[in-house]
Amino acid sequence: MSDYPYAGRFPVQRRLPDQGRPREELLAELAAMAAEEDAFWETGKCSGTMYCGDHDHYAFLARAFERFAHVNALQRDLCPSATKFEGEIVAMALDLFHGGPGAVGLVTTGGTGSILHAVLAYREHAADRLGGRRPNVIKPETAHPAFDKACHLFGVELRRAPIDPVTTRVDLDWVADHIDDATVALIGSACNYGYGTVDPIAELGSLALERGVGLHVDGCLGGFILPFGEELGYGVAPFDFRVPGVTSISADTHKYGYAFKGTSTVLFADKALRDAQYFFLTDWSGGKYCSPGMEGSRSGGLLAATWASMVSLGRAGYRRYAAEIFSVAAAMQDAVRSHEELRVLGDPTFLFSFTSEAFDVYHVNDFLRDRGWRLNGQQYPNAVHMAVTRPQTQPGVAEAWAADLAGAVAYAREHAGSTPKSGAIYGGVAGGMTDEADAFIKAVMADLLDRQSGLPPEPAAP
Ligand SMILES: *Cc1c(COP(=O)(O)O)cnc(C)c1O
Repeated sequence: MSDYPYAGRFPVQRRLPDQGRPREELLAELAAMAAEEDAFWETGKCSGTMYCGDHDHYAFLARAFERFAHVNALQRDLCPSATKFEGEIVAMALDLFHGGPGAVGLVTTGGTGSILHAVLAYREHAADRLGGRRPNVIKPETAHPAFDKACHLFGVELRRAPIDPVTTRVDLDWVADHIDDATVALIGSACNYGYGTVDPIAELGSLALERGVGLHVDGCLGGFILPFGEELGYGVAPFDFRVPGVTSISADTHKYGYAFKGTSTVLFADKALRDAQYFFLTDWSGGKYCSPGMEGSRSGGLLAATWASMVSLGRAGYRRYAAEIFSVAAAMQDAVRSHEELRVLGDPTFLFSFTSEAFDVYHVNDFLRDRGWRLNGQQYPNAVHMAVTRPQTQPGVAEAWAADLAGAVAYAREHAGSTPKSGAIYGGVAGGMTDEADAFIKAVMADLLDRQSGLPPEPAAP
């Protein structure tokens, strides 16, 4: 069987068709694929990914998008609206995170984009002071790989601080011991992707102030939901610009901001940091080229849709969704805690992770997968996590979780001696990679990319 999707059902375009195909036919194919793919997560059994999961909301965003989808936000003379959208998205985010009078921000293409911009800003801002020496940043091991990617791309040294195995929060003493005069920033997550736990931001802030370095808070995942968890009394400690020492924050509108994929915000306490990462080429024959961040052309539609998501929900809408999500997350965690074989890691929020000392927790995942659940696998220790989003807040999902989890624990006990089928995979894409040599991992990646962008074999000539 070919793993090429939809082969045999819809025509495979091997070359640009000579004559275009009818729009109605294409729209019907798209509708069929979308309906099947939506049915998978509409059950509420899929961790993360579909943060809003509300087709009315998506249709509304699509209407906002459609007005400006063709517009290039880089050319503001043609679209003053993009300035309004971007300015207001940044202003609303700064308001949520208590930005002071000098605080500014950018809208980027996603969480990775925001983190890349922040790391570049810290590097450039410190360039004169370092005079050619290599800058470094210190991240908790649990902080997102986008920091490693940014350091890799920008030639910054990354120091990975261990975490406390019980709380899963960063080891502050290790961080303090590894700051030197080339350290440009510390990182803390609110919250991290793996465990849904929040690093000790206040303590990191004091350390950053004392040692004269920046502190970036990664709120990519939690930025647009944790502030409402705090308001609702879920014991979320402040992690934003109220905390002395916090100099920048990343927060994804395309996660709990409930906007379309392809937007995020990066916010700076001080304009000087943002201004460190402009790019300009004033003597190019094509004209004077200046870009505010790393991107070139950008879609005005994404700015319009993100703006529309935030303004249509408002604080009340975000708070209502957060209340539902936090309450379901608590119920789902209670179900985990009711099994003595399972252990929740740290003190999580709307996203929780659990492991087991009684058996390999991937046996639990194997059983849950057969019941239609899609959780994310982790390693060191083996664990699985569930990021609770709006699809889980439908009636019956938390109850189905409790029932299936009980079945899964029984299954895991029976299979404790054998090797589980599932493993630790980010986003469900690559398999079989642990500590193998780079060459092997590259071969696996190449194979994966070939399969994700290749075509099925040509049918034999008749
Ligand atoms: C998703 C995520 C990111 C990176 O975001 P992308 O949008 O996937 O680029 C960064 N940090 C955390 C904690 C995240 O969950």
